[in-house]
Amino acid sequence: MVLRNIGNQLSKALSKKNVVARIGGDKFGIILKDIKSSEDIFVYIDKIYKLIQQPVRVGEQEIVLSMSMGISIYPNDGKDMKQLISKTEIALSQARRSETNKYMFYGEHMNSDAKNFLLMENKLLKAIKNEEFIVFYQPYFNLRTHELEGLEALVRWEDKESGIISPGIFIPILEETGLIKEVGRQIIKIVCRQLRQWLDQGYEVVPVAINLSPVQFRSSTLLKDIMEAVEEYELNPNLIVFEITESTFMQDIAATYEVLREMKNAGFTISIDDFGTGYSSLSYLKKFPVDHLKIDLSFIRDITKDTDDKAIVNAIISMAHHLNLKTIAEGIEEEEQLKELFYLQCDIGQGYYWSKPVSAHNVEAFLKCDLRNHTGIENF
Ligand code: C2E
Ligand code: CA
Ligand code: CA
Repeated sequence: MVLRNIGNQLSKALSKKNVVARIGGDKFGIILKDIKSSEDIFVYIDKIYKLIQQPVRVGEQEIVLSMSMGISIYPNDGKDMKQLISKTEIALSQARRSETNKYMFYGEHMNSDAKNFLLMENKLLKAIKNEEFIVFYQPYFNLRTHELEGLEALVRWEDKESGIISPGIFIPILEETGLIKEVGRQIIKIVCRQLRQWLDQGYEVVPVAINLSPVQFRSSTLLKDIMEAVEEYELNPNLIVFEITESTFMQDIAATYEVLREMKNAGFTISIDDFGTGYSSLSYLKKFPVDHLKIDLSFIRDITKDTDDKAIVNAIISMAHHLNLKTIAEGIEEEEQLKELFYLQCDIGQGYYWSKPVSAHNVEAFLKCDLRNHTGIENF
């Protein structure tokens, strides 16, 4: 129904001169014939965007869709159908990988990006084999008591040539290739091993939040992998939080519900990450067994200046509290933001104001230790 609906709307919106076709799965192809200048293309991009952004009603449900576009131009990018389609496909896969660009034009730079991608994939395969992934930890704090509430595990790749590489660079490639399942397994294991080590050293540990990517979340072996790691290191599941982004939640509601239920039953804590960037329906939020809601850092950045952002954050917090969820504000960098969030009754805060993500060794300064009487937290 959704595909048919989109097909109809696209053909209506793009006038008779142009060609709209569904070319497989959830992929549509469009040939625009009445383009005279590059501005014309942007008018169409905008039109298609607005159209896709309209929620689609299917029975009782409202569905919000997302979309990526790849664009190539005749005759610059190719002189025949085959060339044009293959370049459009390359542009599309680029658009999919990009977090910010939902559309991409084919360009010469993309050829080299595609080569880089293959190169990266091979390097990542080696990295998985050699276990080159490491985990950094970023603390988060109770805004009322200033006590440490937990740590977020953030993966890094320690490449021999390039040094430490951020997840923004390699996670999209791991996702696209499906390698994320294996790396995700390694991350869960690293975190569990670390928690066990801290416990054995006498640290008073706090829960550690692990990010789960969409592909990982949909993996049939996820729960088994998690339980194996937790059992191997003899940990209480209440020491592990799983962060799942709002958009992952909304992808397949019934399946998501099942997985979350099982996680909750096993004793894990669930956090919705990047909240505010998707289009969650509030009625679903109420039904999901979740504990925390992390307000996306894009709303926190200008909270002291932008009254819209402040109003949104205020609304998210009061809604969360009505649903019995704790709120975490991420990306707090300045005291002013902290004050604002405290005033809005946000429960927990995380950000450079306290600490960047740091190595396991460096984050120990925030943990209390019975044996060595560490009181690093008091400095903050
Ligand atoms: P995220 O889960 O939203 O993580 C928060 C990101 O914001 C982190 O970037 C963190 O370093 C950054 N951040 C924290 N405080 C501040 C601040 O005060 N100001 C600013 N500007 N940024 C701040 P990082 O570590 O580069 O991670 C980026 C993203 O990569 C994460 O976003 C998450 O989606 C993904 N990621 C990281 N580790 C993992 C992982 O182990 N598994 C999976 N699947 N994804 C991960
Ligand atoms: Ca996160
Ligand atoms: Ca986030």
